[in-house]
Amino acid sequence: MGDFPARTLAYSAGPLGLLSMTGHADIYAEIADQIASALERGVAPWRKPWRGRGGGLPRNPSTGRAYTGVNWAILMCAAWERGFSCVEYLTYKQAQAMGGHVRKGEKGTRILIMKPVTRKNPREGQDADYLMAKRATVFNLDQIDGLAFDEPETTIEPIAAAEQLVADYLASGPALRVGGSAYYTPCEDSITMPALGRFTTPEAYYSTLFHEIGHSTGHPSRLDRDLKVLGRDHSYAREELVAEFAAAFLRAHAGIVDGWEVEQSAAYLAHWASKIREDPRLLTWAASQGQRAADHVLAKRRTGGERSAAA
Ligand SMILES: [Zn+2]
Repeated sequence: MGDFPARTLAYSAGPLGLLSMTGHADIYAEIADQIASALERGVAPWRKPWRGRGGGLPRNPSTGRAYTGVNWAILMCAAWERGFSCVEYLTYKQAQAMGGHVRKGEKGTRILIMKPVTRKNPREGQDADYLMAKRATVFNLDQIDGLAFDEPETTIEPIAAAEQLVADYLASGPALRVGGSAYYTPCEDSITMPALGRFTTPEAYYSTLFHEIGHSTGHPSRLDRDLKVLGRDHSYAREELVAEFAAAFLRAHAGIVDGWEVEQSAAYLAHWASKIREDPRLLTWAASQGQRAADHVLAKRRTGGERSAAA
């Protein structure tokens, strides 16, 4: 399973290469341990709903940006573990700059940041751009005094948003069929789903569909992941985690906070935990792949204007 670490980060690096990660193995081990212990206690932290600003996505209220990839998993996990009331986080300095202060004795959460640096390429001897992995510490808004935010109205209509997201993706994506259970068939590029009425709520239907859509982004015509693992036992955790993460990102984008109908069994979660412990970089890889998968689906969203022009 040692074949993806470099690629993991090359993905998040985009066109940039990745600076040697030597000495950073502990970063991955620490992150993997945090998530694996939540799974061992029977909780997939990304399945815990968060209401509130930012649609339940961990975000930074200073930059207005969402925390992505593995940081999203770390911060969801921290909020669940420590009982925070929201998933918004600031660095110590950002809190200060916004007129707040981190309460004395509060322990921050360590996230992973990729810093662009320029270094000499050892082979070609020329300067090249790289990404360097570093740790940063952030604090939840619950740990910071003196900050006040106006609650903006949320205007998102979750089911309508989910319907639109699915329609836009399927317009040029896989076929959708009705069947007895939910699965994705790579060779046919088709998603099979039980009818909407077979689910207790529309939220549950879309949560399941988002998971299968997550798998479908791995098709060779899209992000081209290895889908041969689907339905096989060994290395199943890899692709399953990607689909899990993609579904969680898409749910957050559609504003869905309920509806994970299929609760994973403790044995299933323990299986993931052992895979993550076996290869601590699996989690970082799966989170960045899940993010890419969700971004791919979200990129298919058409604006109202385009839609009427196309109709
Ligand atoms: Zn699956």
